[in-house]
Amino acid sequence: METTTVTHKLIAGNWKMNGSLAGNEALLQAILAGLDADTAAVDVAVCVPAPYLAQVQALCTGSPLAWGAQDVSEHEAGAYTGEVSAAMLRDFGCRYVIVGHSERRRDHGESDEAVARKAQRALACGITPIVCVGETEVQREAGQTEAVVKRQLAAVIHTVGHCVSEIVVAYEPVWAIGTGRTATPEQAQTVHAVLRAQLGAAVPEPRRVRILYGGSMNAGNAAALLAQPDIDGGLIGGASLKAEEFLRIVRAAV
Ligand code: PEP
Repeated sequence: METTTVTHKLIAGNWKMNGSLAGNEALLQAILAGLDADTAAVDVAVCVPAPYLAQVQALCTGSPLAWGAQDVSEHEAGAYTGEVSAAMLRDFGCRYVIVGHSERRRDHGESDEAVARKAQRALACGITPIVCVGETEVQREAGQTEAVVKRQLAAVIHTVGHCVSEIVVAYEPVWAIGTGRTATPEQAQTVHAVLRAQLGAAVPEPRRVRILYGGSMNAGNAAALLAQPDIDGGLIGGASLKAEEFLRIVRAAV
């Protein structure tokens, strides 16, 4: 559960559907070897495919590296073949779970309300949901960016109520994910400020809610993005699969 102030940035890797037992071990060992007293000022996590949670738990327990999943069921338990519950994620020591990633909204038809229920399930099990919001390129060009991200976040605020102070938000413009086209620091900051203001209407301390930027963040652009006043960390896809690149992003967040 989120208890830190926003002065600790969060760098979270999203491995997506990548990895193998051997590859994960090498990647995690390299990341762990690079976390030191300097990087202790940053919260670092990897969100991995569910089958590898036990491996990550075994390798990272007691280390500064937290871990999480990439999705969770909106249901508590029962006849939901293929689903993974929040309680199961808790069994494997997950601190975080990504909900509402644009790939799941797009490929699995996840609605704003379903994403909100997933966030609620995670919170009920003491797991911090990383709630992804973001506009498509068409929506941006139509001037709908603000309306889209506010609608997506509003559903979560409506469902989880005052517990919204315990979530992490990730602004991920869909057009920037996996494309190498990063939002400029100014573009990202503009949206982050909108989200911060929306949180401010829901919780007394909106600065305690971390708002991450995600979308082709890498070692080269991380520092400029993370220097923005409302960017409290990063959700990192492709660059989280390379230990040295991921560690350079972590160091840019110190
Ligand atoms: C993501 O999938 O959450 C993401 C940010 O991907 P990438 O960094 O590869 O754009």
